[in-house]
Amino acid sequence: MAGNVGIYLGIDLGGTRVKAARFTPDGVREASESAPSEAQGDADAILEAIHSAGSSLAGNADLLGVGLGAAGLLDPEAGRILNSPNIPSLNGFDLKARLQEAFGNVPVHMMNDANAAALGEFHAGAGVDSSSMFLLTLGTGIGGGFVVNGKIWGGAAGVAAEAGHMCIQADGPLCHCGARGCLEACVSGWAFVRDAEEIARNTPASAIARLPSLTPLALARLAEGGDAYARSLWEKAGTMLGTGIANLMNLLNPDCVVLAGGLGKAGSLLLDPARRAWESQAFEEAHKSTAVKMGALGEWAGVRGAIQPFLNP
Ligand SMILES: [Zn+2]
Repeated sequence: MAGNVGIYLGIDLGGTRVKAARFTPDGVREASESAPSEAQGDADAILEAIHSAGSSLAGNADLLGVGLGAAGLLDPEAGRILNSPNIPSLNGFDLKARLQEAFGNVPVHMMNDANAAALGEFHAGAGVDSSSMFLLTLGTGIGGGFVVNGKIWGGAAGVAAEAGHMCIQADGPLCHCGARGCLEACVSGWAFVRDAEEIARNTPASAIARLPSLTPLALARLAEGGDAYARSLWEKAGTMLGTGIANLMNLLNPDCVVLAGGLGKAGSLLLDPARRAWESQAFEEAHKSTAVKMGALGEWAGVRGAIQPFLNP
């Protein structure tokens, strides 16, 4: 009989859901679950949501370590979230120490959620055959993570790869970060809703104005049905995304750019105009040698990446 070899827990703490998964010591996901993140609650309620998701998965197994990916600006050394726009009660909270305590003093590793997703795709998903990979997460906001030879390239202060805030259009729409024309302000879940609301206001007879709720998914369905306004939104967003990808290709020329997140589900609506843009804007040598792929791990990239520091420290 094999002995109890132990498990790792990977946690992905987002603004709406906390996802947790149980992994073997070599990083194979055995079980997972997803629960509301209690983001509007106090820090103790959030801690409890994480702990209860994790401990029900761990059961009686020998817990070797807990990896956490969390949205926001972190101080991984201090184990603290400095600024969490989506979970404000965690600002300044000693999350790592409290998690460690809650899970019985096992080692805890903490990182930004986009970096966690990037490590997950690199080591166990779309990036496994590459030596450099840029991950773009296309969701309500836009995240980025850059992995070189298996490690996150964090830059001087650990805040590199914020691709959502590279400038695409200098006089473009205002971004949540205070700048104008960031990729996220041009192509993201919230940018779609903003543009669709404007069409609904200006053109009350449009199909967009009659949608019960303005979501990227609803706009994708309209566009697939041939609606010209919805098609123009996807065409514009795709072109802007392609400009962002062309910038990444020219600047970094990674082996691959991996696209994750909900907007990618729009498929060719987004990718056809994006491809036209990167093929015309990036150097031919750059776009021919950088593959653009969809993520392979879906919503479970972050939990897998969060435990990676235990597998190859
Ligand atoms: Zn910005």
